This record gives sequence, structure tokens and C-alpha cells, in this order.
Amino acid sequence: MVMGPVAPAYPLVGNSSVQARLVRAANEDRLHHAYLFEGPEGVGKATFALWLARYVNCEAEVRPCGTCRSCRLMISGAHPDLVVVGPDPEKATRIISVDQAQALTRALQLQRHSARRRFVLLDPADVINEEAANSLLKTIEEPPRGTQFVLITSRVGSLLQTIRSRTERVRFGPVPTEDFALWLSGRGISEVHGLAASGSPGIALRLHDGEGDERLAARDAMLDAIGQPLFRLFAYSEAEGKKDEGVSRAELVVNLLEELLRDCVCLANGRGDRLLHADRRDRLEPWARALWPGGLARMTQALATARDRLRLNVNGRTVLESLFAQLNLELTARPAENR
Ligand SMILES: [Zn+2]
Repeated sequence: MVMGPVAPAYPLVGNSSVQARLVRAANEDRLHHAYLFEGPEGVGKATFALWLARYVNCEAEVRPCGTCRSCRLMISGAHPDLVVVGPDPEKATRIISVDQAQALTRALQLQRHSARRRFVLLDPADVINEEAANSLLKTIEEPPRGTQFVLITSRVGSLLQTIRSRTERVRFGPVPTEDFALWLSGRGISEVHGLAASGSPGIALRLHDGEGDERLAARDAMLDAIGQPLFRLFAYSEAEGKKDEGVSRAELVVNLLEELLRDCVCLANGRGDRLLHADRRDRLEPWARALWPGGLARMTQALATARDRLRLNVNGRTVLESLFAQLNLELTARPAENR
């Protein structure tokens, strides 16, 4: 892994100035009591928060050593002063619940166990519901002595303003192209997965570890459905809309469609060498002819709308139906109408 000269021991590729800033604050004992780590999925926000907890609490000279008592307990997830709160497993919807918030508040009233600084991670913080947030506001604003909050989100727009305003925001970005390319090749990860991950090592690793196959299967199912009459397309939308596990399936379909339309723009501009989905070029060439240029502009707008609606928790099926109905219309419009 190639790191900048000032960042020999940092855990993440990219984001070196963010990492340096936080390590400096830790060294000078002036960490803010509640950080909001925001930025794209998979760039290492949670990884860095966990590393920082180990760094601050490690008992060795060169930190984090990975072998002292504190490091070992933190790595195994058994350290009583490292608390990670995620979606409530007792609830059907993906939320951080008021029960969890109250349990956390009670736990934080107890003395720290052994840590110099107790770390509380809310990940993802944007799933906290209003009632839970209200019961945590005061604690986040003024945590018990020696307690540190790190809120983590890739959807900062969905995070309640009352919470956001009580944190210091730390922005993580995608990994710069050159660093990312080096990092990918160091791990033998294909360029296609790297491009689809757009600067997110975590996503690239997931694609590399087999999620990529599932993704390609989802892409081909979509391409097949788009060639079908509208009622079949709606049946497809319904089936995909139902497959929500954690990261929404509808979001995946929207991302895939965006990549295909991006490829159409390349084809229309004679840049067939830059396709993400070169193996489906034969399917995309007629699209590029039918959609360029007006249809592609309108579909780009439609994709943005679809994303907004998914963010507002509109049902995945409904979002996909209107997206595909529009695509269908654009693909069947006569070229002369497509301005
Ligand atoms: Zn250690």
C-alpha cells in the first residue's frame, strides 16, 4: 500500500489528511467528544473509528500494537469500553431504537472499565429514529467524562438535524484514482470491480469476494426485463422491489442502470474502449442510438429522482416501475422525437 510520507502507520488508503488530523487531535488530547464521520460507503469510516479507539487506548509504545490487552479485547469486540450500536435486531425495520438509546444511556452512566477513553460508535447513525435521537441528544452533547462518540454515515442528508448539529463533521472522500488503482492491483482486484466501486475499497473488496457475480446476475436480469412488454417489466420491478436486505436491492438496480447509461454516453461519443459493461456492448449499442442525446439527459434526471425517492423510503417497486416505464418510453420513441 502506498501512503503519503506523513502517514506511515495509518490504516486507510486515501483520506490521509483526515487521518492525520484526527491522530494529531488524539495525540494532543483534544478529540472532539462527538464526531460525525461522513462520506461514501466503503471508504473506511468505521474501520478508522475502530482503529482510532485502539490507537487511543493501546498500552504499547508503538500504537496500536494489536497485541496488548486493550488491543486484543478491542479487536475481538469484547472490550467493555468500545460500544458499537447498529440497527436494532429486535425490530423489523432497520432502525436504532429508543430501547437501544435508553440502554446506552444507562450503560454510559457506569464508570469506564479500563479504557483511557471509551468509544461509542453509532453505525449507521442515519437509521436512528426521532424518539431514540431525542433520548440521546443530551448524552451526545455532553457525554460522561472520558467518553467519545463517533457517528458514522454515508447518507448525511438522512441524519436528523438535531443530531447533526451536536457533532463535529469529518468528511471522508473516495480514494484518489491513482492510489486506488495501486491498491486494487496490489490485491489482484479487477479493474471492472474497481470502476464500479468508484473509489471505495470496501465496495471493491465485496465485489471481488463474490458480490460481483451477484451484481452481474442482477444486471443481466434487468437487461432481459427491459426487452419485455411493460407488464413483464412491472413484474420484474415488483420482484426486485421485494428483495430488500440491508442495502436496498432497488438501489443496486438503480446503480446498475446508471452504469449502463454511462456506457451509452461513451458509445455515443465513440469511446467504446471505456465501457464498464463491455461484455454487453451488443445490448447497449441500440440503446445509445435510441437515447442520444435527449433521452440520456432525461434518464439521468430520472435516476436522480429515483435516488431521492428511495432516500425518502418510497417503496422500491414503485420507484423502479416509474423508472423503467420512462426508459421503455425513451427506448421506443422514434429518433426524430428524441431531442
Ligand atoms: Zn496495543
